[in-house]
Amino acid sequence: MYPLLMAPYFRHGSETPWGGSMLRDVFLKDAPDDQTGESLEVSALEGRESLVLNGPQAGRTLGSMIRLWGKELTGEIEGTFPLLIKLLDARELLSVQVHPDDAYAAANEGGKLGKTEAWVVLNCEPGAKLAYGVTAGKEELAELARAGRVEEALNWLTVRPGDVLYIPAGTVHALGGGIQCYEVQQSSDVTYRLWDWGRVDKNGNPRQLHTEKALDVIHAGKILPKCEGATVLRKGGSITYFISDGNFELSRLNVSGKMPLEKGRMRIITPMAPCKITWEAGEMEVAPFATVLVPAGMEVQVEGRMNALMSSTSDQEALRAELGYRAERVAGLTE
Ligand code: ZN
Repeated sequence: MYPLLMAPYFRHGSETPWGGSMLRDVFLKDAPDDQTGESLEVSALEGRESLVLNGPQAGRTLGSMIRLWGKELTGEIEGTFPLLIKLLDARELLSVQVHPDDAYAAANEGGKLGKTEAWVVLNCEPGAKLAYGVTAGKEELAELARAGRVEEALNWLTVRPGDVLYIPAGTVHALGGGIQCYEVQQSSDVTYRLWDWGRVDKNGNPRQLHTEKALDVIHAGKILPKCEGATVLRKGGSITYFISDGNFELSRLNVSGKMPLEKGRMRIITPMAPCKITWEAGEMEVAPFATVLVPAGMEVQVEGRMNALMSSTSDQEALRAELGYRAERVAGLTE
């Protein structure tokens, strides 16, 4: 076993008409065209899987690695591989959308997972905005949505690089133009489009809206603040925890030396500058914005002077015990 450097699956061209060239130009991805919206860095979605790039297993899909290494790779999880990691380049505004929770998706989408997700803004134009939550109550929102006037209810947020946003299932959201971000989400592709700004494709057809299902699942009214996070000193630097709910944990490693990560949980690491990952039997150099999947059965060390985003399955009890009263600063941990 060894840490897996992953090659992304790209969504591009007519599939992401809002995409741009930044995944290649800034994030050094092998993007297929100048309308590439998403690189699925770690994906076990059928037909959209990421591949292993390094070592003896190079060329295998994530799904086949899960079958090969089992719990040594994923840790104690049941059923579907739970996480999906993406980088996004929104050259233009995305549609206004919402995702269902697990119960609704299981009942209405053939047993699929729901989708809670989170964004970390990596880069953006000054003053870039995104839609995050709605200011209207449920009934008013339904009237506006059915009248094609949902824009009037959107809460707009100006973002800056480094901002972290937690988007639980039921939260209305639209990524704004001029923003590149890292996204962690439940491994699901269930999206209900509430509004597409009146846009049409080159044949004059609008994309399908899913107004009634969207209205079924929207949590109206409550708008969450940006994630503050709680920082804990560690050997080799510190870790800032932003989110830990039942679905995933999102943190940032602030490395200035050699930071050990104990085994027990699968971890997905995306450094923002070059770093080295070492383990008992080897080591690897990791380029900026490359993504490494560290098997649950491995202890590794992250070495360098940089920040790295890290997503994993969550262990809420352990994190609550580690943070004490500061657990309140971690989204999803104390609600
Ligand atoms: Zn979404």
